[in-house]
Amino acid sequence: MPSKTKAAKELFALVAQYGLEPFLESTRTLAGVLNSDGRLTSSNAAFDALKRTLSDADELREFVAPASRPDFERLLAEAHQTRKQVQGQLDFGLETQPRRYACLLVPLSGGRVLFFGEPVFTAFDLPEKYQRLIENFHHVNDELRETLRELERKETELKAVIAQADEVSHTDALTFLPNRKQIIADLQRQVMFSERYNTPLSISMLDFDHFKLVNDTYGHAVGDDVLRFVAMQLREGIRLPDMVGRYGGEEFLVLLPNSTLKAASEQAARLCELVRSTPIISGAHVVQMTISIGIAQYRIHEEDWEQLLRRADQALYQAKMNGRDQWAVIEA
Ligand code: GH3
Ligand code: MG
Ligand code: MG
Repeated sequence: MPSKTKAAKELFALVAQYGLEPFLESTRTLAGVLNSDGRLTSSNAAFDALKRTLSDADELREFVAPASRPDFERLLAEAHQTRKQVQGQLDFGLETQPRRYACLLVPLSGGRVLFFGEPVFTAFDLPEKYQRLIENFHHVNDELRETLRELERKETELKAVIAQADEVSHTDALTFLPNRKQIIADLQRQVMFSERYNTPLSISMLDFDHFKLVNDTYGHAVGDDVLRFVAMQLREGIRLPDMVGRYGGEEFLVLLPNSTLKAASEQAARLCELVRSTPIISGAHVVQMTISIGIAQYRIHEEDWEQLLRRADQALYQAKMNGRDQWAVIEA
């Protein structure tokens, strides 16, 4: 047994059963036993340096640096109350030169507590040049983190811009309806759907009547107002899942999934009536607009989307020929 046998006796007796005495002697881990009033009744060699700097200390709490004492009291009380081992980090030694330890308090019988404190390696333990290196490392690390955050912010912004551009590329800038590219893509999808599931599909091609006259009479800006207003009427006048898009200058395409010519005709009559009965106010002008509509139903397994469009266009021509402000169907 080593020379500090007396002080270490209890502790050594405790750990002897596990054959841990050599460990207790050589380790930098503080090990000790506190009696029920917190006095350090037994301790290992690692405590010696602390005992030299704090020669008056008797209770374990007196070895704890002042800033850590509330934490120590809390841990000790918890160990007593729960009768279970508790862990926490505490500073030991002089207030001016504290040393951090990862501590373990194990309640024993009779209110005693077995204590272990393993030194935590900190930057303060290093020579100055290494401390500076570590500071530099932290600095670079902080900068990297900030750069990363900045990149993440930029990525979010970019995604928003891309989403917006994507939206814009599918949307007509004047009416905010799906543009030609989009409504044709929708038509292609609906034709495919109709082929696969054998469901009816009808389309309506709409064209403003004598629209050129509006531009010529009131000017292009009024023409634009009329286009926007009627586009809004169309959007609000159709029912989901029907779709409407701006197909050309003053031509619009309506898709009616799962609908026959009958449903499309009813919708066309309603849209003609809606536009006819609503005078459009643009500045000082009041414009009376009418539309003509050509309707066609998709012939499943017989034609493609382009042929369907062509037939709707022929029907539209027919409606114009019949006197405008009406709808027509191409049956054959
Ligand atoms: P119809 O009844 O036979 O269709 O006669 P229309 O005058 O409507 O036919 P036409 O195709 O000759 O004229 C279409 C006009 O639509 C001509 C064009 O200047 C106008 N237009 C097309 N796009 C726009 C637009 O974005 N803004 C305005 N203000 N006018 C447009
Ligand atoms: Mg036209
Ligand atoms: Mg026209």
